[in-house]
Amino acid sequence: MTGRIHSIQSLGTVDGPGIRFVAFLQGCNLRCGCCHNPDTWDCGGGTEITAEELAKKAVRYREYFGEDGGVTLSGGEPLLQAAFAREFFERCHAEGLNTCLDTSGSVWNPDVESLLDVTDRVLLDIKYTDDALYREHAGCPMDRPMEFLAYLNEKKIPVTLRQVIIPTLNDHADNVRALKAIADAHPCVDKTELLPFRKICQVKYDKMNLPFAFGHLPEPSRETMQELEKILRSPENA
Ligand code: SF4
Repeated sequence: MTGRIHSIQSLGTVDGPGIRFVAFLQGCNLRCGCCHNPDTWDCGGGTEITAEELAKKAVRYREYFGEDGGVTLSGGEPLLQAAFAREFFERCHAEGLNTCLDTSGSVWNPDVESLLDVTDRVLLDIKYTDDALYREHAGCPMDRPMEFLAYLNEKKIPVTLRQVIIPTLNDHADNVRALKAIADAHPCVDKTELLPFRKICQVKYDKMNLPFAFGHLPEPSRETMQELEKILRSPENA
């Protein structure tokens, strides 16, 4: 089976545990205002590759993965190519490689369900803790990632929750408390990460002649990130 990929990072360290082979799949159903990768949006772009070829590439790096590492599918939105992703993960499992899926959790169909059968960890991007913000700045209702998370919990698939902290939208204590409450209500979540909004991607938007929706917003300060981290880790908010 063939899929469309945007790019490959042979040895990544930020998309899942340990050192990982990361493939960024082409195509996304959302349009997040903070998106770093507008060049992955177009479902018809990227390069075609078979799941077999992609797995062969990943296997070449296996000696670097150690105990914790493995492969990650990111994007774009990998759930849009769930059947391709499933075959890739199956082939990786056959080689004994750990599989990780980096997703917004906003797509659901039988292929997605089948993909999750061969997924060892999900990195789930919870963009906001408010439905109106979700609809306005990501392009989907909050129910979708929440239903996705409920399914992961039911299947006991380990989850890392991630959220990009964006000044004026979600850089406040109540949002982080709500995120923590979501994590606490789902025992499958064993890690929560807050990531600072960054504007380095402005150049990509300029090159593509596209407006960067959040180009006018500042990046969060280190102090804000530290304060929010403190709230997230505080047992008082348990
Ligand atoms: S889901 Fe990811 S790739 Fe898609 S628009 Fe949002 S941030 Fe960008």
